[in-house]
Amino acid sequence: MNIILLGPPGAGKGTQAEELAKKLGVAKLSTGDMLRAAVKEGTELGKKAQDIMTRGELVPDDIMVRMICERIQQPDCDDGFILDGFPRTVSQAESLDEMLQAEGQKIDHVVALEVDEDALIERISGRFACAKCGAGYHEKFKQPKVPGKCDVCGAEEFIRRKDDSADTVRTRLKAYNDQTAPLFPYYQDKGALKTVDGMAGIDEVQNQIMAIVH
Ligand code: AMP
Repeated sequence: MNIILLGPPGAGKGTQAEELAKKLGVAKLSTGDMLRAAVKEGTELGKKAQDIMTRGELVPDDIMVRMICERIQQPDCDDGFILDGFPRTVSQAESLDEMLQAEGQKIDHVVALEVDEDALIERISGRFACAKCGAGYHEKFKQPKVPGKCDVCGAEEFIRRKDDSADTVRTRLKAYNDQTAPLFPYYQDKGALKTVDGMAGIDEVQNQIMAIVH
């Protein structure tokens, strides 16, 4: 089963994708995570993407399409995947459709998380992640079970994303409204788009998504 999660930065796509991937036994493909890993490793791709990401703009389509195309060929995607953060432009969506069609595959569900724009700033400014394994947390909505200790790997160091600063968030929201929002009519026309209330609690949103994909 192949699923796309759509929604603005801070809507909870990463959190939902992680849980959903575990429940459905499919791969979670987060282009933001992939890019951050490339930046950390200092690869050519990472060097190209770093400044663009810090500004909150979008990395060029050709780079992103190549990245996801290679990733989808990996064996852990054989049973399906959940895309978090891709596609982000209509051009990326078109390339994804072509890529999947060539392999006799398709996108089964596009689930959009609807969230008030005002709430996004609160959500984004409170988030942090484990410095070792990258597991995501939030000061208000998802604290580690044992304070100061990662639930997944037990590490005690946490980091915040550079692009979660107020200025960059504004640019990211603008990029979303200008370049990503046109994906709604794109997938609506294909009859693939379903929406869930992203303002509900994490478990409730998960239940709503499960009800759609099952
Ligand atoms: P995210 O973790 O999904 O919020 O992504 C972080 C940053 O990575 C974005 O602000 C973009 O600069 C870049 N990025 C991630 N996915 C894409 C994509 N599909 N197209 C273009 N840029 C992307």
